[in-house]
Amino acid sequence: MNMNEECIQTGLCELGIQGRDVAVHASLRSFGHVTGGAEAVVHALLKVCRNVLMPTFCEIGRTNPPQEDRPRQNGWDYAGYRKDTTNIVPFDPDTFDATSKLNVNEMGRIPAEFLRTPGTFRSKHPSVSWAANGPDAAWYTAGHIADDPNLPLKRLMEKQGAVLLLGVDLAGCTAIHLAEEVVGRSPFIRWVLYVDGSVRRVREYGCSDAFPKLAPHVASLAKQIAIGQCHAVCYPITQLVKNVVKVLATQPQITLCGRQTLCRCQDSMKGGPKEDGEANQTVVSTSLRAGPHRHRWATQREEDNESSTHICNRNHPHRYISNVSERANTLRTEGNPHAKQQQHACPSRRIRKYLCTRHGRYPHPSG
Ligand SMILES: [Zn+2]
Repeated sequence: MNMNEECIQTGLCELGIQGRDVAVHASLRSFGHVTGGAEAVVHALLKVCRNVLMPTFCEIGRTNPPQEDRPRQNGWDYAGYRKDTTNIVPFDPDTFDATSKLNVNEMGRIPAEFLRTPGTFRSKHPSVSWAANGPDAAWYTAGHIADDPNLPLKRLMEKQGAVLLLGVDLAGCTAIHLAEEVVGRSPFIRWVLYVDGSVRRVREYGCSDAFPKLAPHVASLAKQIAIGQCHAVCYPITQLVKNVVKVLATQPQITLCGRQTLCRCQDSMKGGPKEDGEANQTVVSTSLRAGPHRHRWATQREEDNESSTHICNRNHPHRYISNVSERANTLRTEGNPHAKQQQHACPSRRIRKYLCTRHGRYPHPSG
């Protein structure tokens, strides 16, 4: 069956996503032959939806962990794995944009075309940047700090947006990592060489190979149709995250991919990376760190004092360590308006709090 932009537009309208904000994970190959290729798919999405978001991940500047920075339970074999960093290109936040590096093999041709589309903004996360196109594209991509990989998806939840899977299964659904963060699984810590010579922490996602096992638990939310050969599924992101949070609370092992060797999903299930002295069973406190306040506090601290951010200056390793522990303590206790109210373990209540609008979580750049 030969597909074109109009057929895809018709299919997207049948899914009921006209005028909505949508995070898209798509496989061009799943459509069969498309006249106009990836460009036709991108144009159809932009004509039907209000704002379109796509993950545009890369590993620019990725380097090895500094000797003095070894958080445990971090899905990283410190003893056994060293990355070859001889030709490493440092990350420059001032020049990183839609024309910068993309892992095309991993992300696919549709995100590559999306980045080339006029009007597309790209967030400045060194590992897990997101691209957006539409009237709110600048808002979705602004201030995507390295410490908060899920920020664009949190904004999509505020807008009651949708997740659209075009020919891919839940293994490609990044919103499930957001649900992991809500239940207290901190994103993994990796390290990036910046253009100023500093090595800084970034946070990124873990293993998603087992996420398709969640499909029966979210099937009632899914709207599915065939667009040509492509199996298209749409979920409301807020309900999707809520349902997955409930499942993870009762069946945390569902995200284990079953590999015999050490895999990131094993550390993720235990709560993700921990600093020295930090206990493993910290569901309540990690939910504070995982919630929207973490972003607000981190941003505030970066504005307050440049040196208090998670910068590793290789000439001052001791300053770095003290800043990290000081920062972790601050994130847990300082200025959290919900500190008392969040002392409960029920995931459904936690996520309601997470969605609370009383304290204005992510300021809009224009206001
Ligand atoms: Zn795994």
